[in-house]
Amino acid sequence: MKISHRITLFSTIMMFLLLLVVNTSIYFLFQHYTLNAELDRTLSQSRVITEAMQPSTPEWSPADYLEAYVSADGMVRVVRENGEVAVSATKTPQLVNAFSPQFMTEESTHRLVLEGQSYAVARTPVIWENGTLATLELYEPMTMYEETSGILGIILIIASLMILIPSYFAGRSLSRFILRPIQALVATMNHIRAERTFKKIDVDEKSKDELAEMGKTFNHMIDLLKENYDKQQQFVSDASHELKTPLTVIDSYAQLLKRWGKQKPDVLDEAVSAIASESTRIKEMTNQMLALATGEDTITMNLERVNLTDTMFETAKQMETAYNRDIRVHTSGNGSTFILGNHMQLKQLAFILLENGMKYSDQELLVNVERKSNEVVIRVRDYGIGIDKEDIPHVFDRFFRVDKARSRKTGGSGLGLSIAKKIVDVHHGTILIESEPDKGTTFIVHFPALEKED
Ligand code: ADP
Repeated sequence: MKISHRITLFSTIMMFLLLLVVNTSIYFLFQHYTLNAELDRTLSQSRVITEAMQPSTPEWSPADYLEAYVSADGMVRVVRENGEVAVSATKTPQLVNAFSPQFMTEESTHRLVLEGQSYAVARTPVIWENGTLATLELYEPMTMYEETSGILGIILIIASLMILIPSYFAGRSLSRFILRPIQALVATMNHIRAERTFKKIDVDEKSKDELAEMGKTFNHMIDLLKENYDKQQQFVSDASHELKTPLTVIDSYAQLLKRWGKQKPDVLDEAVSAIASESTRIKEMTNQMLALATGEDTITMNLERVNLTDTMFETAKQMETAYNRDIRVHTSGNGSTFILGNHMQLKQLAFILLENGMKYSDQELLVNVERKSNEVVIRVRDYGIGIDKEDIPHVFDRFFRVDKARSRKTGGSGLGLSIAKKIVDVHHGTILIESEPDKGTTFIVHFPALEKED
């Protein structure tokens, strides 16, 4: 059974039981008081008759008094001590045999029923002939009592229905009102399951009630799930992007080893050290990406003195070997080109910039590392397709690719420069682009320099 039906049924049954108890109590209390009132009235009447009869006047016998006082459907009689009826008066003869006479020395009242009709009976002692004691019995039909009881019963039943029916509908609307947010929640969950998307429910943000709280909690949960899902997606795409270059380097050095390794010891040394350093890089990179994916916001970065000239020479050499392209590296300016940074990440930055230069141009690449006052500046220049002015602000966005780049079938993912920007940011540096379509592009990166003695 649906929960809404259960709530409606429960509230209606509770209301019914409440009405039953209250109305039954009202009915029986009313009956009790009207019965007592009728009995008291009959007793007073019997006292009046008793007083009127004594002493009887010569022209009026006791029987005459009884005739004068008896009502249309009632009966009055005098019962002697031995139970015999001394005198009786009634206009309803069947009453005579229906109720047996009773002698009593004290006043009393009773309710008797004959063929569904209630009678009030009052007995009062009376001094009879020769000073003997007798009992005056007065029987009065309780028509008012029965009629009012019947009418009250009908009124109570109608009143109960008038309360029960609206309360049934009120219970139904209430259960619907309460269950509406739950139904919305279930519908949203089903939608999420079917469409495999993260959907939130509409919640009145100002409301503080439990149902709104439930909706808000659900939406927070969805936010959290989506955040984790996005991180996972980012991990997968970043991982595949960043692992691609070192794997290409390892692959090309392995080929080189296969071909020349036995004959040329210098190639062997170079290849082994390149493969070893790239494998370490992959391992460290994987650890960092795992840390990011599991939600650690700040990655623990090993900071060391890094000579950017060495980094650029080393990376350029490996790229030349891996991609068979010319890269010329120059240094200019006086002073050291050391910065405080993470060697592995800075090498990754160099890879990204050089790889882009090779992807989007067919000629040689120029790299310049320069010490300029308290900064170290790297320039990576290519003579390729260039970037349109309006696209420059967007190239650091994740997954952004210029249409021209797509048509070159270079297989980019739009992630490289966003990763490069992140690396520059954590090293407190800046990255700029100077570019002219069809003439070429220069990436200029500034880092705070380290003095040799720092
Ligand atoms: P991708 O993997 O597509 O190269 P990036 O984030 O490295 O992703 O670069 C984003 C976009 O910026 C590229 O798709 C390309 O359109 C443009 N771009 C980056 N570097 C260059 C460059 N040296 N010359 C021309 N366009 C470039």
